[in-house]
Amino acid sequence: MSRLLAAVLFLTTSSVAQGFSVSISMDEPPILEVIYLNDALKPIEVYEWAIPNDNFWMDIFNVYSGDIKNKYVGRVYRWSDAAYNDFIILKPGEFIYGRIDISKLYYLGSNSDYIIRFNAESSKILRRGETLPGVIGSNQITKYIKRKVHVFVKSAPEVEDGIGFHDCSRKEKDSLKLAHKFGTEYSQEAHAYLVAYPEGELYINWFGEYKKKNYKIVKKGTDKIKKAFEEEFTEYFCGCKDPIAWVYTDRHYEIHVCEEFFEYDIEGVLSQATIAIHEMSHFEVTADTDDHVYGEKKSKKLAKKKPKEAIENADNYLFFSGYVQESKE
Ligand SMILES: [Zn+2]
Repeated sequence: MSRLLAAVLFLTTSSVAQGFSVSISMDEPPILEVIYLNDALKPIEVYEWAIPNDNFWMDIFNVYSGDIKNKYVGRVYRWSDAAYNDFIILKPGEFIYGRIDISKLYYLGSNSDYIIRFNAESSKILRRGETLPGVIGSNQITKYIKRKVHVFVKSAPEVEDGIGFHDCSRKEKDSLKLAHKFGTEYSQEAHAYLVAYPEGELYINWFGEYKKKNYKIVKKGTDKIKKAFEEEFTEYFCGCKDPIAWVYTDRHYEIHVCEEFFEYDIEGVLSQATIAIHEMSHFEVTADTDDHVYGEKKSKKLAKKKPKEAIENADNYLFFSGYVQESKE
C-alpha cells in the first residue's frame, strides 16, 4: 500500500467515529457477536443501553434479505433522563464483546441469507457522541439463518373501566386509570391546539420551524394518538424493572409500565399521563414514532436543529402535549 493511500484510509476510518469501531460476526445463527473497540488515544464513554447483551433493545442494525429491509420487531424503551448518566468507560485499546439474538430484534420470516450491518448515529451509542460526526458503521456479514419468528402469548387481561390490566396491583390499576384519563385529555388538547394554532409557539418549540409538510405529519400523528386513547382498548402490563416503560410497535395499544413509571406524578408535563402518550405514539398505527433522544432539553434542541427528527420523536409528542396542557392552566 502506498503511503498516501494508507494516510487517506486512516483519515476516512478515523473520521467515522474518531477511533471507536464496531465489528460483527455470526458463528451460531441467529446469535450475533458484537465487538466495540476503542482504538483512539483517549477514553470513550459507551451508554449502558447500547452494550450488546440480553438486555439490548435498539434498532441500530440494517438487516436485509435480498433487497428487502427486515422490520425491527424488538422492544422500544423509554429510558429516564438519568440513563444518559449510565455509561461505561472504554480506555484506549479496550473492547467490549457481547452476544445479541438478532431474531428478537428483526423479523426473520424466511429461511434465507441475511445481510447484516451495524449502523447507528454516534449520539445513540456514545456519550458526547453528538460532538462526533454522524454515523458508526461496522463490517457487513451475510449469513444463512433459519426462519425464527417470536410468538407472544398473553393471558386475558383484567378489565376495569374499559382498560385492560396484566399483573398490576390495586394501587397501580388506580394510578393507571387516572393516567389514562389524563392522557386522553392531554392528547385531545394537543390536537385541538394544533388545529387552532398551526404556527403556534408550542408547535415551534417542540417540532421546529413551521413547514406545511411537517405540520401535516404532526397533526395526523396527534389525531391518531388522541383517537387511540378515546376509542381503542388499551392494555397495561405491570411488573417490569427497567426502563420506565416500553412497547412493541406492532403490538398495538399494549403498554408495559415498569417500577419507575409509578414514581412520576400522575399528571403534569413529564408524568404518567404524558409517558403514556409517549408510548401510545410509538405504535405503527398511531404516529409510528422513534426514540432519537429522550428528555426535555434534548427534545427541544432536536426541534431547533433537526425538525425532521423531532416530528418523529416520541418525547417531542410527550413534551408538546404536556406543555399544551400546562398553558391551559
Ligand atoms: Zn420510546
